[in-house]
Amino acid sequence: MDRPKRIKKLTLPPIELDAKEDALPQAISNHLAFSVGKDDLTATNHDFFVSVAHVARDRMVGRLMETMRHYYDEDAKRVYYFSLEFLMGRALSNSLDNLGLLEETKKSLASMGIDPEEVFDSEPDAGLGNGGLGRLAACFLDSMATLGIPGYGYGIRYEYGMFYQRIENGRQVESPDNWLRYGNPWEFPRQEVLYPVKFHGRVVEYADEKGLLRYHWVDTEDLMAMAYDNPIPGFGGETVNNMRLWSAKSSHEFDLTYFNEGNYIKAVESKNESENISKVLYPDDSTSMGRELRLKQQYFFVCASLQDILYRFSKFHDNCDLLPEKVAIQLNDTHPSIAIAELMRLLVDVRFIDWDRAWKITTGVFAYTNHTLMPEALETWPVELMERILPRHLQIIYEINRRFLKDVMRSWPGDNDLLRRVSLVDENPSGKRVRMAHLAIVGSHKVNGVAELHTKLMKETIFADFDRIYPGKIVNMTNGVTPRRWIKQANPGLAGLITATIGPEWVRDLSRLREIESFAQDPVFRKDFAAVKRANKECLARFLRDRLGIESSPDSLFDVQIKRIHEYKRQLLNVLHIVTAYSRIIRDPAQQVVPRTVVFSGKAAPGYATAKLIIKLINDVAEIVNHDHRVAGRLNVAFIPNYSVSNAEMIIPAADLSEQISTAGTEASGTGNMKLAMNGALTIGTLDGANIEIRAEVGEENIFIFGLTADEVLDFKRKGYVPRSFYSANEELRTTLDMIGSGYFSPDEPGRFRGLVDGLLTSDPFFLLADYASYLEAQKKVESVFVDPDRWIQMAILNVARMSRFSSDRTIGEYAQKIWGVSPLIPPSRA
Ligand SMILES: *Cc1c(COP(=O)(O)O)cnc(C)c1O
Repeated sequence: MDRPKRIKKLTLPPIELDAKEDALPQAISNHLAFSVGKDDLTATNHDFFVSVAHVARDRMVGRLMETMRHYYDEDAKRVYYFSLEFLMGRALSNSLDNLGLLEETKKSLASMGIDPEEVFDSEPDAGLGNGGLGRLAACFLDSMATLGIPGYGYGIRYEYGMFYQRIENGRQVESPDNWLRYGNPWEFPRQEVLYPVKFHGRVVEYADEKGLLRYHWVDTEDLMAMAYDNPIPGFGGETVNNMRLWSAKSSHEFDLTYFNEGNYIKAVESKNESENISKVLYPDDSTSMGRELRLKQQYFFVCASLQDILYRFSKFHDNCDLLPEKVAIQLNDTHPSIAIAELMRLLVDVRFIDWDRAWKITTGVFAYTNHTLMPEALETWPVELMERILPRHLQIIYEINRRFLKDVMRSWPGDNDLLRRVSLVDENPSGKRVRMAHLAIVGSHKVNGVAELHTKLMKETIFADFDRIYPGKIVNMTNGVTPRRWIKQANPGLAGLITATIGPEWVRDLSRLREIESFAQDPVFRKDFAAVKRANKECLARFLRDRLGIESSPDSLFDVQIKRIHEYKRQLLNVLHIVTAYSRIIRDPAQQVVPRTVVFSGKAAPGYATAKLIIKLINDVAEIVNHDHRVAGRLNVAFIPNYSVSNAEMIIPAADLSEQISTAGTEASGTGNMKLAMNGALTIGTLDGANIEIRAEVGEENIFIFGLTADEVLDFKRKGYVPRSFYSANEELRTTLDMIGSGYFSPDEPGRFRGLVDGLLTSDPFFLLADYASYLEAQKKVESVFVDPDRWIQMAILNVARMSRFSSDRTIGEYAQKIWGVSPLIPPSRA
């Protein structure tokens, strides 16, 4: 096919600044005037943010277009990362830093009498995700752009992201995150990139001219998906990739029937209704809500993205058999897995490709990442719901299932129980349901877990049958995080020290961090390293004092647990330790203790009552402990509201101790564990998720491991677990649980936490009581090391030096090689 010819090459704004001294301040004032419409007298910090964002975007546009044209010219295989969540956080300092403009911009703002930090802080977080899964997607985009991989993010432009959390009377209060209220200077709305998306209706069969049975999906309710493009600059700014987010627009400005009936209001209302689809992110982490609007969101973005991908593919190719050579689609969890049925529909119903060919193409394109083994998180949709919303897709899923089960039957004749277990349809007495994970496995050529233990457990437990049916399909891709955001930008002090010691290459090649290992003994380096941590702790201590009214000493051990609030993550076990430490102090107020500041941060799903009660308990304990004069500042507890990427960037560099204490076998990988260890926090953790691999890297002498192993947890589950026996056998545990259960921390409502404690005594599904003694032992060990600052610093340095495996650059390199079959493209500027 012919490529469109350019008549004249446009000159695009370069990344390199004008040689003129005042080019950057001039560019900022220009945008302040021409894009915002203000002068420096009336401009707010947010106005300066918008202006600087435009300056950064101007520098990215040229490279974005060059990158896209380069992929096009090379007919490169593209990777499409499909995700319902992208937890991007702020973009300004990240973009400037990746473009190499951060320091210059800070100087320019300062020269204009503006505090750059206040400007950066006035950018709202793009919180289009719940937690780890969404943040992983954001780290992957950064790594793909940095490595020069043709990777596109596809998702939803939610009008409301993750809710904003306030704490009132110790309880979580949610408010909407109206992050687009003041506009979004980063995005390019593409009014012309608009695709129809159909729902409901019915399927009619017809015979084509050759007499073959065909299917038409008719009488549908339609709406439109409109694209918004967000540039993703790689480090160095050579590659700028794209994240395309879809927004729902009603297909008719006015519904003509209502309009003609003279019902103007009703007509406009129906427009609003269809636009609800991209209105709000579902705030549930690790549970599937099974709501109709959620299924519509999933299909909405998948349908638009596949049309877009096929349009791009078809500019160059007319043979769909080549699709797996040119397109790799990664499904971030099962949330987008309806894409498998949708691609089959497009190939079979729209392009009239026969089923077997279409299936070969489809499985060649898709790969699926599993993020959890927890049964309540595995998505299933009632057949009745899917039939109503996506009738043709349900038929296709049934046909995929029929053929799949036939194949299984051929290999394992007579094993009806196997068929029942692996079927894509759960024949539940309470109603049939479609199992989206089974659809994702059957329809993908590779399925991956996110840490070694998680992948092993996938193969041995929930997906054991599939591992037998498809040997080699399930592979491991241990998660990682981007060192640009999580070291260089979040912790400029540490980044500066590393660069001054070993040069700047580590930012692109984290394996270079190993080189600081030889400085672990160097007294000057140690002193500098300790000073960086100290300064970061002083900064967090100021925040705790100014914003929460909590006085904490930067000399104390900063003990940090920041993540979603969930029973399996065991914030409650941390509370049991705090209460034990507190009762030890009040029993003997004169004793020597290692001063601690325990910091929590995290959101609970709005419908998750137990998680919300745990937040209340943390705050009630904080209230008592922080104000008990017998404690005298030796133990402080702080709950930082509204955990978000920006709050994580502030807290992580100040942490001494990283709490990664989930029940073994429950946390798929964790990525908070990686961010904290890279920033020189020592981990206290269970043998769960990536903690195991972190231990293998940093050495078991540089991490505090405790608790049951995943195998031991399974043993308990098989043989019976009696939590009360631990209560009876351990006096301190008894005292601790009795204090909480009898209302010591809730004198206004003594029974408030009785249910929480009774739950532990009677069922304790996450084995807190079994792990309590070993956790306390590990905390004692932590303190014995912390009182020896030289030893602590040495361990912290070795953690930083040995964490390089957990760069998302390494993770993306493995996906590229083992799943996607793509390699980095040399950017045009270097070609
Ligand atoms: C990294 C990160 C997470 C994931 O933390 P885990 O400890 O791995 O659960 C969640 N939320 C935010 C804002 C993060 O930055």
